[in-house]
Amino acid sequence: MKYVSTRGQAPVLPFDEVLLAGLARDGGLYVPETWPKFSKAEIKSLRGLSYDDLAIQVMTPYLGTAIGGDNFAKIVSDTYAAFDHPSVAPLKQLGPNDWLLELFHGPTLAFKDYPLQLVGRLFDDILSRKGRKVTIVGATSGDTGSAAIEACRDRAAIEIFIFHPKGRVSEVQRRQMTTVQSANVHNIALEGTFDDCQDLVKALFAHEAFRDRYNLSAVNSINWARIMAQIVYYFWAALNLGAPDRKVTFSVPTGNFGNVFAGYAARRMGLPVEKFIVGSNANDILTRYLETGEMNMTDVVPTLSPSMDIQISSNFERLLFDYYQRDGASVKKIMEQFRRNRRVSFGKARWRNMGNLFEGHRLGDNETQDALATLYNHTGELFDPHTVIGIKAGQAARASASSAALVTSPVVSLATAHPAKFPDAVEGATGQRPRLPARLADLFDREERMVSLNNNIDQVEQYIAGQLEGSETA
Ligand SMILES: *Cc1c(COP(=O)(O)O)cnc(C)c1O
Repeated sequence: MKYVSTRGQAPVLPFDEVLLAGLARDGGLYVPETWPKFSKAEIKSLRGLSYDDLAIQVMTPYLGTAIGGDNFAKIVSDTYAAFDHPSVAPLKQLGPNDWLLELFHGPTLAFKDYPLQLVGRLFDDILSRKGRKVTIVGATSGDTGSAAIEACRDRAAIEIFIFHPKGRVSEVQRRQMTTVQSANVHNIALEGTFDDCQDLVKALFAHEAFRDRYNLSAVNSINWARIMAQIVYYFWAALNLGAPDRKVTFSVPTGNFGNVFAGYAARRMGLPVEKFIVGSNANDILTRYLETGEMNMTDVVPTLSPSMDIQISSNFERLLFDYYQRDGASVKKIMEQFRRNRRVSFGKARWRNMGNLFEGHRLGDNETQDALATLYNHTGELFDPHTVIGIKAGQAARASASSAALVTSPVVSLATAHPAKFPDAVEGATGQRPRLPARLADLFDREERMVSLNNNIDQVEQYIAGQLEGSETA
């Protein structure tokens, strides 16, 4: 298996090099040269596997010869042994045909642990065999940062720098990052929005001399290996609900389009999926695109679901690549146009095709609060604000019944975080303060470590260089 860039001008690479590279050199994102396919009989044979064994089957076609089979099996079983639910990703019934896939049983209580705990171990394995070191830089709207830090802390071959938008992540999220006392972990509060953080990271990668000198690498959702690891739980949920004999609909609260893109990848591999419901908050660029056919960038507004406060959904480019018949030159042109004009349309035919598979629904903060309260009153359970957007978007899609099959197919909403990650929002809406699980119970007593920097590339580069040169002489 080889990987190509969505912009068509970067070198074609094997899995291990794609893992280490993150973003492609032409500014594009790496995708598999072709989608591996499972037949219906092959999918049937996956029924009843444990999460680990399923993960191995689903991911192996993507590895090529980069990692040996026994080695990979060991890495996978180490990864999911650290999760605190025996089934790893439990599927809970919410209604007659409505389900919740709980993806918050990892160390930092968000779905991002599912890919990142694996990616941290893959980095370690590959780097130590090659005798190399990397500097991981990443932008976070809250959850990626802590998941990445937990995945990389104390690993000898890795230094990690995480940028979060100052004052725009919840206190639990911030503390999950800043209370990690490992010498290889560096937290930066950037004056700006998440999109500023993401642009800054892209600019660091675009500065070739800096990137090469410090071996920059990324683990945010532009990294292919993360998408790969997320494909697994789409198979997991669908198989548990009767796939491949029955089609399933997934409802996904969406920011960077990484999670829902993994679902799309599962479908390309042969998993029967009826529809993907894309849930957004007030930062609803994807929902507006799906409604109107025009992608129109506005300013980011802070909401109760900060991990979705994003206007530029990086992973959407991976979807475009397929909808442009995998023509990198066209994708490059259209993405540059979007950056310049802040608006773009990809043509009526493409928009209609996408609309057959994707449907968007938005919830403002008031609706999110109402939904948190209603769900609590009806079920006695607390959910996190992102998860609630997915649940409600799924219900709205079913009510609008854009297709007959959507009425009868099971809808699986992805629970992307534990409610205790967003205690203020949950308490504000329900009057109940969700409690942190035991492993994080003393979070508010732990000491914080971070620096505050302006949104200025020179200053940021100076800081990173200082930290790295310092650690080399220490
Ligand atoms: C990251 C995150 C999202 C958005 O996921 P994307 O892959 O960026 O679409 C949604 N909910 C929570 C809790 C998250 O941490």
